[in-house]
Amino acid sequence: MAGMNRGSGATGGPPTGDGGDPGVVLDGVGKTYDDGGTPVRALDDVSFSVADGEFVCLVGPSGCGKTTLFRIIAGLTQATDGAVRVAGTPVTDPTTDMGVVFQEYHLFPWLTVAENVAFGLERTDRSEAERERRVDEMLDLVGLTEFRDSYPKSLSGGMKQRVAIARSLAVDPELLVMDEPFGAVDAQTREMLQRELLDVWGSTGKTVLFVTHDVAEAVTLADRIVVMAAEPGRVDSVVDVDVPRPRERGDPAFGDHVARVRELIGAGP
Ligand code: ADP
Ligand code: MG
Repeated sequence: MAGMNRGSGATGGPPTGDGGDPGVVLDGVGKTYDDGGTPVRALDDVSFSVADGEFVCLVGPSGCGKTTLFRIIAGLTQATDGAVRVAGTPVTDPTTDMGVVFQEYHLFPWLTVAENVAFGLERTDRSEAERERRVDEMLDLVGLTEFRDSYPKSLSGGMKQRVAIARSLAVDPELLVMDEPFGAVDAQTREMLQRELLDVWGSTGKTVLFVTHDVAEAVTLADRIVVMAAEPGRVDSVVDVDVPRPRERGDPAFGDHVARVRELIGAGP
């Protein structure tokens, strides 16, 4: 297939792209969990990069280290080896320059929808009026204006995830990293959220690194798909998604990409 690269040689170095600093560079990232029992090599020599404005999906079987890699990129877990750089700067701690969305929403149950969305903004130097305007814009963007004073417990899973996305976008980060953000919602809501995310990405030019175990979701969203393998977690191959947007599941090229990626993961076509 055109654009398919396999093997460490093809994935070892960052692409030179158009000469600008790549958005995210992973350079020989490794992680060993060693909490007393048998050490687990969760990641081994993971190197790839995500260019500014690019949408990259990370797929792979359960246990191949996707969440570990997500947490390292977000600054929530330390790598054992190698380094992650965002816009040229090594990641050492969580930062508001990055929007982070977890599978399990991570909303604050004691805050309203609007207060959850405002959370990151409180720690910026924007005026109160600016913060309020930004919260209103974000609620409008994700279609939750009328739920601004509701609490998370009264929302469906899809609505909670919209709040989490609005919160991550509120501070206008250049980079969004998301770990199976639509994994817990029904198929119809998932497709709607995918379209909304693509709209945001298309209209803002943000860089997105999106973890999923759903191959069709990756083919729907990504410019490129990084396929991981397990034990140890590593990059198996990188697939360019040469399917014009908006992508239709009925398009034969869509089906070809899904089949190819499934084969690489080893799940069969
Ligand atoms: P994925 O998200 O692809 O399912 P994870 O990153 O969650 O993969 O896990 C990768 C490997 O690391 C698995 O073998 C998992 O059991 C192990 N692992 C993950 N978190 C921890 C931890 N905190 N302590 C020990 N082992 C862990
Ligand atoms: Mg995971």
